[in-house]
Amino acid sequence: MATPEFDLLVIGGGAAGSSAVTNLQGRNLKIALVERDKLGGTCLNYGCDPTKTLLHTASQLYNARQAHKLGLQILNAGFDWSAVLAQVRKVLDQIRGGTPEEAERDYKDATLFKGQARFVSPHEVEVNGQRLQADRIIIAGGTKATIPPIEGLQEAGYITNVEAVSLPVLPKRLAIMGGGPIGIEFSQMFARFGVEVTVIEKTPELLETEDRDLAERLVSQLAREGVSFKAGAEVVAARKDASGKRLTLQNKGGRQSEVVADEILVAVGRTPALDELNLEKAGVERTGKGVRVDENLRTNAPHIWAAGDIASKYQFTHVASEQGKRAALNAFASEPEPFDDKVIPWGIYTFPSIAHVGQTEQELRETGQEYVAARHTFEEVARAITDAQTGGMVKLLASPSGRILGGHILADDAGNLLSPVVLAMKAGLTVKTLAETIQPYPTLAEAVMQAARQLQEKL
Ligand SMILES: Cc1cc2nc3c(=O)[nH]c(=O)nc-3n(C[C@H](O)[C@H](O)[C@H](O)COP(=O)(O)OP(=O)(O)OC[C@H]3O[C@@H](n4cnc5c(N)ncnc54)[C@H](O)[C@@H]3O)c2cc1C
Repeated sequence: MATPEFDLLVIGGGAAGSSAVTNLQGRNLKIALVERDKLGGTCLNYGCDPTKTLLHTASQLYNARQAHKLGLQILNAGFDWSAVLAQVRKVLDQIRGGTPEEAERDYKDATLFKGQARFVSPHEVEVNGQRLQADRIIIAGGTKATIPPIEGLQEAGYITNVEAVSLPVLPKRLAIMGGGPIGIEFSQMFARFGVEVTVIEKTPELLETEDRDLAERLVSQLAREGVSFKAGAEVVAARKDASGKRLTLQNKGGRQSEVVADEILVAVGRTPALDELNLEKAGVERTGKGVRVDENLRTNAPHIWAAGDIASKYQFTHVASEQGKRAALNAFASEPEPFDDKVIPWGIYTFPSIAHVGQTEQELRETGQEYVAARHTFEEVARAITDAQTGGMVKLLASPSGRILGGHILADDAGNLLSPVVLAMKAGLTVKTLAETIQPYPTLAEAVMQAARQLQEKL
């Protein structure tokens, strides 16, 4: 059989790979896309979209159960788990534009090859025994859950985010290994559906990349909702007996304790999906965290680029998607452009949520940068009072010259509230502009304006 030849071959049909393909539409190129699982990748199938749908549903349930505080009588607010999961599938199909099978059948942006891609030479990839040849290649294979080598864990059994978004039955007790964004989002979601959740985190701090003021407020809120936290405790062994799955924890001082659960959710980090790719056959260099790329997302092999989680220190869909686009455009550009990662916002989508852009106060302190900080809580913000959302805060950080260095918000819908700060940082606007921009009453955005005014007074 003749080897099909392509102008471009993309490995991975997630946010990065799909974006690479769609951004080359209309150029009359022969493009191949190889995907071993479902189109849409982690975000659509096992990440952002199912978790946000489940968090939204869980928050509706929680609010119904708290409704008496507003004088409402919602009696017996409950749920049917299989109906909840059916609704999640409906949402995913809507975002995808059909079921996974329909999406594959109707896929027209490129020639789709279903299966594991393996390099056999720098320009050749094998999929299900078929060789494909391409002038240019983009690696966008993403990451998968890291499974730590803990004695007894394999035998005891565990789940990752892949299973956690479609569990046929809710466990009564769930131990979550990992107190980062993924573990924390799952903790609230499961707890609000009545699961007894314990989050175990090796480091002393939960959500360690987030601003401490906000992270601590969020963790306190989750604790009030019934989530248990074991921070500074490493899981050193696991086993299963008649009472459940037993995790042995050990703190820095060597003291041991135990958590017993019906299920263990592992969310301790992500590992690049490089297994079975045979990267060495293409001569592409890797790092411990993925594929090594330059600022134009090109690997050391001049005809191969990499994009998304597999090549980025920022593992988010919006970054993967922009990188996919940039890698694709650069692959056919006479003058490639670097990927600009100077202003990258992100969120943790609990209720309240955390939105983050730029540096945190602890990062500024640790790197010895001069800064001014302003904190504005929602306690005196009218809209927060009307909506019973006074627990959050806005924190802004600026240089002594008024350049915005960071913005951090804890609020329901914090991601949307952060938008003006993200834009201000990207456009190089100062604290003065943010402070003088009038926001409508009554909105939570007034808190951003007030924090900027406080900063302005300190400069
Ligand atoms: C639980 C969870 C929640 C998340 N929530 C958010 C969120 O709210 N917001 C956000 O911005 N980000 C979120 N993320 C991160 C987000 O999912 C990723 O940043 C994003 O999916 C990265 O896109 P990607 O294209 O690089 O990789 P992926 O989406 O992982 O896609 C890679 C694809 O490549 C395929 N593949 C890999 N190797 C091969 C091979 N050799 N051959 C063929 N196919 C291959 C895989 O099957 C996969 O479909 C979340 C992640 C998780 C796990």
